[in-house]
Amino acid sequence: MTDATVKFGLLVSMFQAMLRDRTAAKKRKRFRTFLDRVYSGREYFSAVRLILPGLDRERGTYGLKESTLATCVVDALGLAKDSPDALRLVNWRKGGARSGANAGNFALIAAEVLQRRQGIVSGGLTIRELNNLLDQLASTENRGEKAVILSTLIKKTNALEMKWILMIILKDLKLGISEKSIFHEFHPDAEDLFNVTCDLKLVCEKLKDHTQRQKKQDIEVGKPVRPQLAMRVGDATTAWKKLHGKHVVVECKFDGDRIQIHKNGEEIHFFSRNFLEHPEYAHGMSNVIVQNILVQRCILDGEMLVWDMSAQHFAEFGSNQEIAKAAKEGLESNRQHGHFCKPFYLLQFLPGGFSLFLLSISKLLNINIAFDILYVGDTSVIHQSLTERHSLLQKVVKPVKGRLEILVPNGGINDHRQPFWSTVAYNVEDVERFFKDTIENRDEGIVLKDLGSKWEPGDRSGKWLKLKPDYIHAGSDLDVLIIGGYFGSGRRGGEVSQFLVGLAELSDHTSYPKRFISFCRVGSGLSNDELNALVAKLKPYFRKNEYPKRVPRFYEVTNNSKERPDVWIESPDKSIVISITSDIRTVKSEVFAAPYGLRFPRITRVRYDKPWYECLNVQSFIELVQSSNGN
Ligand code: ATP
Repeated sequence: MTDATVKFGLLVSMFQAMLRDRTAAKKRKRFRTFLDRVYSGREYFSAVRLILPGLDRERGTYGLKESTLATCVVDALGLAKDSPDALRLVNWRKGGARSGANAGNFALIAAEVLQRRQGIVSGGLTIRELNNLLDQLASTENRGEKAVILSTLIKKTNALEMKWILMIILKDLKLGISEKSIFHEFHPDAEDLFNVTCDLKLVCEKLKDHTQRQKKQDIEVGKPVRPQLAMRVGDATTAWKKLHGKHVVVECKFDGDRIQIHKNGEEIHFFSRNFLEHPEYAHGMSNVIVQNILVQRCILDGEMLVWDMSAQHFAEFGSNQEIAKAAKEGLESNRQHGHFCKPFYLLQFLPGGFSLFLLSISKLLNINIAFDILYVGDTSVIHQSLTERHSLLQKVVKPVKGRLEILVPNGGINDHRQPFWSTVAYNVEDVERFFKDTIENRDEGIVLKDLGSKWEPGDRSGKWLKLKPDYIHAGSDLDVLIIGGYFGSGRRGGEVSQFLVGLAELSDHTSYPKRFISFCRVGSGLSNDELNALVAKLKPYFRKNEYPKRVPRFYEVTNNSKERPDVWIESPDKSIVISITSDIRTVKSEVFAAPYGLRFPRITRVRYDKPWYECLNVQSFIELVQSSNGN
């Protein structure tokens, strides 16, 4: 049976019901019921890709963020550019008189506009039709064509269905259920299989029967593997304790882009941390890889950076993608002129009135630092120890200065500013020394790894530890979660102008944090525009702290009335992480639940890029304070 007859409306009913469900268990059960009753015997992938749109790599990207999507919807509806509805869509962040509560949520604003045009009667769009139209939407770069496709979708749906389609396009359904839970409900082996293949279609096809366990699958050349990640620790002593008795290597934490390089003969793929293919590196790097990886098939794990050929060290400026694109353009113009590809030149200018002042000419190139190897010849090597993998790296990769280097203990990377970028640590003093040396050169920090460990796809449970300088010096940035808001006075009367922020209570590492404890009240640091944008994004999730003053079950607070915000954020998964800087008071605050208080906190940055569950946790914070305190 196919998906040709299943109406998208059935999936929408499940989404709507999940929004009402208060527990993850209920949401999971609803998903199971949908699979068993509605989708039984059909190709699960066609529905699951709509439930986990962020993991669907089959149809590429739509090239539609909220602002472009807004103009496409305006065109699709044939609205005059200056009509109130067109302005409402384009200014979705601000909302407006009629749509105050939905401001900052594009799909909800669009649903309001569509409601008046589409009404509640569905055009009967099927899941098959939706997937076909989404394929078309991703395959064209032309905005006019995108608008035509959206207009077809609008004709075949009602406003509610269209709201969910827009959320699917934006790849964020805000269902309040984690990807992990969806996977586990689908099949007990689904997450593992996804981690080694990053292929949702394959997962759905292979694991149709959730009662049949599957043999663990290993990684393959050509299929991106979900990267192993590091867990943050507060200080060297804690890191050392966590790796107690292990044979430890400390490595520089390079500040570039995580890239997995897959080589299959002359075929080279570059995959990012989000398992997207990055063909822009092919022009500058593929030859280097083909010529200097001495086996036919191989997967390297590493960091892509920029190398300054003139200065002979890592470049302080220039983004990886810019350099890769410029290398491609340089290559094309050289081809036209019949020359061999040469490194391109990047000119850095200082503004000086109308005339620009030439500061320096540097030759910049992408460089890959391979810190691990996952596959050699015909075999996955992730189950071997890191020591064994280091020796494979040395055998398989021929380093090329400024282009391709390997990171092995006491191996040389030819940036003269540091003797070693990786070394074995025998005691905590070795870790401290390496940390100090490293942050003097580059401020990212260090990564600690157990030399006896295997490489674990998708793991972030603390097998790799990272130590960053801002956890050592008090007053550095802390990434905290907004859990409530306080109304301002004067111009900001009736509008949230300060936030109550919280720290995560460490859960068991297999799930997202479930509780957040109140930490401090913070308002200053952002410009008016930044503050407005942030408040607009959160506004749909503000819940007034009205009588009876019940605290949402996700938050732990004190009984001190000074702490109580005017609004709570409905649930942590709806919230946003902000970076704050402050002096840390090492005595317990009387007002907030966290074990230490802050003095003069300021917001330094809104971390829209950081998911809610990755905010600072209480335990790391305590370690940070203790280490700054010299304990
Ligand atoms: P942050 O926000 O602190 O930069 P992150 O979100 O990029 O961290 P983490 O899992 O915390 O990701 O840290 C691991 C990342 O550090 C890797 O994805 C990789 O990009 C980078 N990295 C740099 N050097 C190394 C190294 N030697 N070993 C492992 N990862 C490294």
